[in-house]
Amino acid sequence: MIRRETKQLHVGGVPVGGGAPITVQSMTTTKTSDVDGTLAQVYALAGAGADLVRITCNDVEAAQGLAEIVPRSPVPIIADIHFQYRLALAAIEAGVAGLRLNPGNIRNPEHIKTVAVAAREAGLPIRVGVNGGSLDKDLLAKYGSATPEALVESALTEIRYLEDVDFDAIKISVKHSHVPTMVESYRLLADTVDYPLHLGVTEAGPPPGGLIKSVAGIATLLLEGIGDTIRFSLTADPVEEAKAGRQLLEYLGLRDRTLLDLIACPSCGRAEVDVIKVAEEARSALEAEKLPIQVAVMGCVVNGPGEAREADIGIAAGKGKGHLFIKGQVVRVVPEAEMVEALIDEARKLVEEGVEARLAAADVNAAAQATETALELRSLKGDANKAEERRSAVADVANLD
Ligand code: SF4
Repeated sequence: MIRRETKQLHVGGVPVGGGAPITVQSMTTTKTSDVDGTLAQVYALAGAGADLVRITCNDVEAAQGLAEIVPRSPVPIIADIHFQYRLALAAIEAGVAGLRLNPGNIRNPEHIKTVAVAAREAGLPIRVGVNGGSLDKDLLAKYGSATPEALVESALTEIRYLEDVDFDAIKISVKHSHVPTMVESYRLLADTVDYPLHLGVTEAGPPPGGLIKSVAGIATLLLEGIGDTIRFSLTADPVEEAKAGRQLLEYLGLRDRTLLDLIACPSCGRAEVDVIKVAEEARSALEAEKLPIQVAVMGCVVNGPGEAREADIGIAAGKGKGHLFIKGQVVRVVPEAEMVEALIDEARKLVEEGVEARLAAADVNAAAQATETALELRSLKGDANKAEERRSAVADVANLD
């Protein structure tokens, strides 16, 4: 994937743009004046994969809270500023690593320039955070609605104020709750400026709809090489936002794997086990183990190990047994009731010892046993669920009349 070339800035020690790894952001939902509560959430977000955390700075108590939160935070903190430019100055004084300004809410160019000068002197970046729901009234009147052109014009006007005072540590977002408008806005912006972009679908709502909208908008742009930092705006525990953002980047191959990637077949008439149940059991157990591997749960040994040969490890069911495989090679056969437990045990060993060592420790008879079971199942000609027998029984009942 060729990524769009941009300038680079730093939020604390975290680089954004200019070829840096794409970062995940989230935002706390606590009152910022509640220092311990906010810090607990910041730690939870960092643990779930957030590289940067944004915290609202909406009053003096919040700014004072930031002064205590920032030095104790495990990740750089960005202050979210609306309406009152003085709170941006207070947040800088509190030691934050970055600011987000909403051009729709801070309108006086002199106030914006005052903040930019203070940020420049403190070495902080500013995000110009345009939002379709709070667009400048004049632009709404000019364009009739929050169109991509209106969002980009809002961003460009703000950028000019910042550049007027030689401030260029800028990142930009042009968020909209309507996914196609969001995507078009970022494309237009990407063609116009070379600052790094912060991607997000604003007010996406609760999962699963909010997740789908966020993935649709953010992934579309990332796959076009657009975007340097991302945020899922979900109506949910913000830990879900951080986790989803991190997962998306890992699934797109844009960040190294640190999380479990569970793949599973969708199940079909050949399934020898309840794939949904086994996959869920495996997911919850493996997530608790925090193993950064790809694990496959496959419904049958006929196709499972082959179809999931790219997975680090997997399990495939067949005739009351679980067939444990590593990189497509069956290494152990266990009773079906023990398959999830065996999968977790082998996964732990795989992470500790590596693929080669675990393949060397394989049960020499396992592959032959799996082949035998697969051949037996294959001879059922796809009638593993005795479909013909059942159809015939239904026909018999129907013919009773
Ligand atoms: S692995 Fe087996 S059960 Fe799962 S979808 Fe493929 S054929 Fe069906």
